[in-house]
Amino acid sequence: MHRSIVIWPEKVLTTPARDVTDFGPGLQSLLGELEEAVRAAQGIGIAANQLGEPLRVALVGREDGSFFEVVNPEVLALEEPLTLNEGCLSVPEQYEDTPRFKRVRVRYQDRHGELHQLDAEGQLAHVLQHEIDHLRGVVFVSKLSSLKRELIKSRMLKLKRPATRTSSSSP
Ligand SMILES: [Zn+2]
Repeated sequence: MHRSIVIWPEKVLTTPARDVTDFGPGLQSLLGELEEAVRAAQGIGIAANQLGEPLRVALVGREDGSFFEVVNPEVLALEEPLTLNEGCLSVPEQYEDTPRFKRVRVRYQDRHGELHQLDAEGQLAHVLQHEIDHLRGVVFVSKLSSLKRELIKSRMLKLKRPATRTSSSSP
Protein backbone atom coordinates (compact mmCIF):
# COMPACT_ATOMS: atom_id res chain seq x y z
CA MET A 1 0.00 0.00 0.00
CA HIS A 2 1.35 3.39 -0.92
CA ARG A 3 0.42 6.31 1.31
CA SER A 4 1.10 9.85 0.22
CA ILE A 5 2.74 12.48 2.41
CA VAL A 6 0.28 14.61 4.35
CA ILE A 7 0.51 18.35 3.66
CA TRP A 8 0.43 20.93 6.48
CA PRO A 9 -1.92 22.20 8.00
CA GLU A 10 -3.62 18.79 8.32
CA LYS A 11 -4.56 18.02 11.93
CA VAL A 12 -2.47 14.83 12.16
CA LEU A 13 0.63 17.05 11.76
CA THR A 14 -0.33 19.43 14.56
CA THR A 15 -1.43 16.79 17.10
CA PRO A 16 1.10 15.03 19.38
CA ALA A 17 1.59 11.39 18.30
CA ARG A 18 1.17 8.42 20.67
CA ASP A 19 3.94 6.33 22.20
CA VAL A 20 4.69 3.01 20.53
CA THR A 21 4.01 0.08 22.88
CA ASP A 22 3.81 -2.75 20.34
CA PHE A 23 7.11 -3.56 18.60
CA GLY A 24 5.49 -6.24 16.44
CA PRO A 25 5.01 -6.65 12.68
CA GLY A 26 2.82 -3.52 12.42
CA LEU A 27 5.77 -1.34 13.46
CA GLN A 28 8.15 -3.15 11.12
CA SER A 29 5.85 -2.63 8.14
CA LEU A 30 5.32 1.05 9.08
CA LEU A 31 9.11 1.51 9.08
CA GLY A 32 9.24 -0.06 5.62
CA GLU A 33 6.58 2.33 4.35
CA LEU A 34 8.39 5.31 5.88
CA GLU A 35 11.65 4.35 4.19
CA GLU A 36 9.93 3.90 0.84
CA ALA A 37 8.20 7.29 1.17
CA VAL A 38 11.29 9.25 2.30
CA ARG A 39 13.42 7.76 -0.49
CA ALA A 40 10.74 8.42 -3.13
CA ALA A 41 10.53 12.05 -1.96
CA GLN A 42 14.34 12.32 -1.70
CA GLY A 43 13.96 13.54 1.88
CA ILE A 44 16.46 13.30 4.74
CA GLY A 45 13.91 12.36 7.38
CA ILE A 46 10.25 11.52 7.89
CA ALA A 47 7.89 11.14 10.83
CA ALA A 48 5.03 8.63 10.93
CA ASN A 49 2.36 11.32 11.24
CA GLN A 50 3.52 12.62 7.84
CA LEU A 51 2.02 9.41 6.44
CA GLY A 52 -1.10 9.92 8.58
CA GLU A 53 -0.03 7.43 11.29
CA PRO A 54 -0.10 9.17 14.72
CA LEU A 55 2.67 7.09 16.34
CA ARG A 56 5.99 8.29 17.79
CA VAL A 57 8.18 6.81 15.07
CA ALA A 58 10.51 8.60 12.66
CA LEU A 59 13.33 7.83 10.25
CA VAL A 60 16.41 10.01 10.44
CA GLY A 61 18.87 10.36 7.55
CA ARG A 62 22.60 10.05 8.14
CA GLU A 63 25.04 12.05 6.02
CA ASP A 64 25.96 8.85 4.11
CA GLY A 65 22.37 8.57 2.81
CA SER A 66 21.29 5.71 5.08
CA PHE A 67 18.43 6.00 7.58
CA PHE A 68 17.85 4.79 11.12
CA GLU A 69 14.66 4.63 13.13
CA VAL A 70 13.87 6.56 16.31
CA VAL A 71 10.93 5.22 18.31
CA ASN A 72 9.54 7.17 21.31
CA PRO A 73 12.41 9.69 21.11
CA GLU A 74 13.11 12.26 23.83
CA VAL A 75 15.37 15.30 23.67
CA LEU A 76 17.65 15.27 26.74
CA ALA A 77 19.72 18.38 25.97
CA LEU A 78 20.07 21.16 23.38
CA GLU A 79 23.19 23.31 23.07
CA GLU A 80 24.22 26.44 21.19
CA PRO A 81 21.29 28.14 19.47
CA LEU A 82 21.71 28.90 15.76
CA THR A 83 19.63 29.58 12.68
CA LEU A 84 19.37 26.96 9.93
CA ASN A 85 17.63 27.00 6.57
CA GLU A 86 14.92 24.40 6.76
CA GLY A 87 12.24 22.73 4.70
CA CYS A 88 9.77 19.87 5.15
CA LEU A 89 8.19 17.20 2.92
CA SER A 90 4.82 18.28 4.37
CA VAL A 91 5.43 21.93 3.37
CA PRO A 92 6.74 21.41 -0.16
CA GLU A 93 9.16 23.89 -1.71
CA GLN A 94 9.16 26.30 1.25
CA TYR A 95 12.56 26.94 2.84
CA GLU A 96 13.01 29.38 5.72
CA ASP A 97 15.63 30.27 8.31
CA THR A 98 14.52 28.55 11.48
CA PRO A 99 15.84 28.73 15.07
CA ARG A 100 17.54 25.45 16.07
CA PHE A 101 20.44 24.18 18.16
CA LYS A 102 23.86 23.04 16.99
CA ARG A 103 24.05 19.98 19.24
CA VAL A 104 21.43 17.67 20.61
CA ARG A 105 21.40 14.69 22.98
CA VAL A 106 18.52 12.29 22.44
CA ARG A 107 17.29 9.01 23.84
CA TYR A 108 15.15 6.70 21.72
CA GLN A 109 14.23 3.08 21.10
CA ASP A 110 14.99 1.11 17.96
CA ARG A 111 12.63 -1.22 16.07
CA HIS A 112 13.22 -3.94 18.67
CA GLY A 113 12.53 -1.69 21.66
CA GLU A 114 16.23 -1.39 22.66
CA LEU A 115 17.12 1.96 24.25
CA HIS A 116 19.85 4.15 22.74
CA GLN A 117 21.35 7.50 23.64
CA LEU A 118 22.99 9.67 20.99
CA ASP A 119 24.92 12.94 20.94
CA ALA A 120 24.61 14.54 17.51
CA GLU A 121 25.68 17.70 15.74
CA GLY A 122 25.54 19.09 12.21
CA GLN A 123 22.92 17.74 9.81
CA LEU A 124 22.11 14.80 12.08
CA ALA A 125 21.29 17.14 14.99
CA HIS A 126 19.14 19.26 12.68
CA VAL A 127 17.13 16.31 11.33
CA LEU A 128 16.64 14.88 14.84
CA GLN A 129 15.21 18.20 16.10
CA HIS A 130 12.92 18.46 13.06
CA GLU A 131 11.57 14.89 13.30
CA ILE A 132 11.13 14.89 17.09
CA ASP A 133 9.20 18.16 16.72
CA HIS A 134 6.90 16.42 14.20
CA LEU A 135 6.08 13.75 16.78
CA ARG A 136 5.11 16.51 19.26
CA GLY A 137 2.76 17.97 16.63
CA VAL A 138 5.15 20.80 15.78
CA VAL A 139 5.91 21.72 12.15
CA PHE A 140 8.85 24.10 11.51
CA VAL A 141 6.51 26.84 10.25
CA SER A 142 5.26 27.29 13.83
CA LYS A 143 8.73 28.71 14.64
CA LEU A 144 8.40 31.46 11.98
CA SER A 145 6.72 34.86 12.23
CA SER A 146 2.93 34.74 11.92
CA LEU A 147 3.20 36.75 8.69
CA LYS A 148 5.45 34.14 7.05
CA ARG A 149 3.39 31.28 8.44
CA GLU A 150 0.12 32.68 7.04
CA LEU A 151 1.74 33.27 3.65
CA ILE A 152 2.98 29.67 3.54
CA LYS A 153 -0.41 28.41 4.72
CA SER A 154 -2.18 30.15 1.85
CA ARG A 155 0.30 28.56 -0.61
CA MET A 156 -0.34 25.11 0.90
CA LEU A 157 -4.11 25.52 0.74
CA LYS A 158 -3.80 26.43 -2.95
CA LEU A 159 -1.78 23.24 -3.51
CA LYS A 160 -4.54 21.16 -1.95
CA ARG A 161 -7.45 22.72 -3.83
CA PRO A 162 -7.24 20.69 -7.08
CA ALA A 163 -7.34 17.40 -5.14
CA THR A 164 -10.42 18.53 -3.22
CA ARG A 165 -12.20 19.41 -6.45
CA THR A 166 -11.46 16.01 -7.99
CA SER A 167 -12.73 14.09 -4.99
CA SER A 168 -15.92 16.17 -4.65
CA SER A 169 -16.81 15.47 -8.30
CA SER A 170 -16.44 11.70 -7.80
CA PRO A 171 -19.60 9.69 -7.33
ZN1 LIG B 1 9.14 17.64 8.18
